Amino acid sequence: MTFADLDLSNQLQYAIDDLKFEKPTPIQQEAFPVIRSGKDVVGVAQTGTGKTFAYMLPILRDLPFLKTQHPRVLVLVPTRELVLQVVEDIEKLSKYLNIRVLGVYGGVNINTQKQGIAQGQDIIVATPGRLYDLALSNVLKLKTIQKLVIDEVDVMLDLGFRFQLMNIFDLLPEKRQNILFSATMTEEVAFLIEDFFKNPEKISI
Ligand code: AMP
Repeated sequence: MTFADLDLSNQLQYAIDDLKFEKPTPIQQEAFPVIRSGKDVVGVAQTGTGKTFAYMLPILRDLPFLKTQHPRVLVLVPTRELVLQVVEDIEKLSKYLNIRVLGVYGGVNINTQKQGIAQGQDIIVATPGRLYDLALSNVLKLKTIQKLVIDEVDVMLDLGFRFQLMNIFDLLPEKRQNILFSATMTEEVAFLIEDFFKNPEKISI
């Protein structure tokens, strides 16, 4: 399979060409149609398999170009390092798209991040604690989120973020697509899926 088989938009294909990726990785091949179907998705994949592009390619493929004030996609990751990495990947992929993406994480001044959010964003990539603080401060409205991605959820739960995750779920609209990635399927991850996901499609490589 090549990227041409994935029915990417021209803008995404040009970005992939610039990255010189030859073909989609197995998880990218599997995730693309499933995520595009709009169903909830649970993916089991390790870092290094291309999982970030696996969820971002179909999301960017179908994200309409609209200059909305509030974000439509929320990506939650466990650490600041991963926020920076995912933002970088999204910037590479959306090079020819008019997409605004902002990363937010704890340990730095919250006011700068509030200003960034107030400018209007399409995609927010965040750690759960800081995201929740921002949502409580009223600068960030989560009711417009259409797609929620939770990446490395096993690490997130190990770090004790379950409570923050549940608080964030409460602020999201009922009607949304949930996409979850985990390197391991622990009991805690399975419970979280059972409690919050509707008949998810499972993908693994
Ligand atoms: P990830 O699993 O998302 O951490 O990605 C691991 C690395 O693989 C990143 O540096 C990506 O830029 C790279 N990558 C993602 N997709 C592909 C692909 N289809 N071909 C080659 N490299 C890729």
